[in-house]
Amino acid sequence: MHSGNHCRVSVSPAKKGNGIVFSIGKDSIRASFDRISDTIMCTKLSSVNGSVVSTVEHLAAALYGLEITDVKIKVEGGEVPILDGSAIQFVEAFTSAGIEKFHDIIQTLRIKKTIKIQDEERWTSLSPADSFSINIECDFMAKGLKTDPFSFDFAKDDFTEEIAPARTFGFFSDIEFLRKNNLAAGASLDNTIVFDNKGLPINKEGLRLSNEPLRHKVLDIIGDLSMTGSRIIARFDSFCPSHRMNNMILKALFADKDSFELVD
Ligand SMILES: [Zn+2]
Repeated sequence: MHSGNHCRVSVSPAKKGNGIVFSIGKDSIRASFDRISDTIMCTKLSSVNGSVVSTVEHLAAALYGLEITDVKIKVEGGEVPILDGSAIQFVEAFTSAGIEKFHDIIQTLRIKKTIKIQDEERWTSLSPADSFSINIECDFMAKGLKTDPFSFDFAKDDFTEEIAPARTFGFFSDIEFLRKNNLAAGASLDNTIVFDNKGLPINKEGLRLSNEPLRHKVLDIIGDLSMTGSRIIARFDSFCPSHRMNNMILKALFADKDSFELVD
């Protein structure tokens, strides 16, 4: 998606307690918020030795959504393939491979007090709740796209049906900027919904789901927040969420030991 390189990922079973670990050649990187090195357009992880893997968020979201906690992920080409821009192909692959249940109780991160971060008009907060819910609002009016607020609650809603199929999106007006900055080199209408300046998709097939852009934002948030390494019990609210803000809120959370507890 970003490098334009051919890339490949193989996901294999791992022992209980292994967690989610990427391997690049002989090097490895744990999927953890403190290994995130870059959040421009996607989430990139870096090892202490300097190996990198980009665009981990959709694969990470598929693993979280299916409650898969222990896998080895071999990456070739420095990036997780974008596939169709959503997480549905990962979900289908994991479901057809089969999922073994071996944790009686999974480590859970429970928020004890509200943490909020702000960046000009953007803000994000995590607050105490009884389930993991994500409630977001975006403002793409400057690009001509009107979107309604969107909420997803793991206790009530279906990740595979409502979130996993939502594709990456972008704006026709941004294409020149992206090309000039060598970003999104592999983007095409096969992996990205592109909106024109009237807010209409130029892709022939149209949208898969109502409010698909905000559903995709929720997918990205699930992938980014999965970098806690735990199941999450919190209410996530955001106005104009981004990969950068998702990482900032985790750093703010882990910097304040009174704001959360880990329960087994
Ligand atoms: Zn995404």
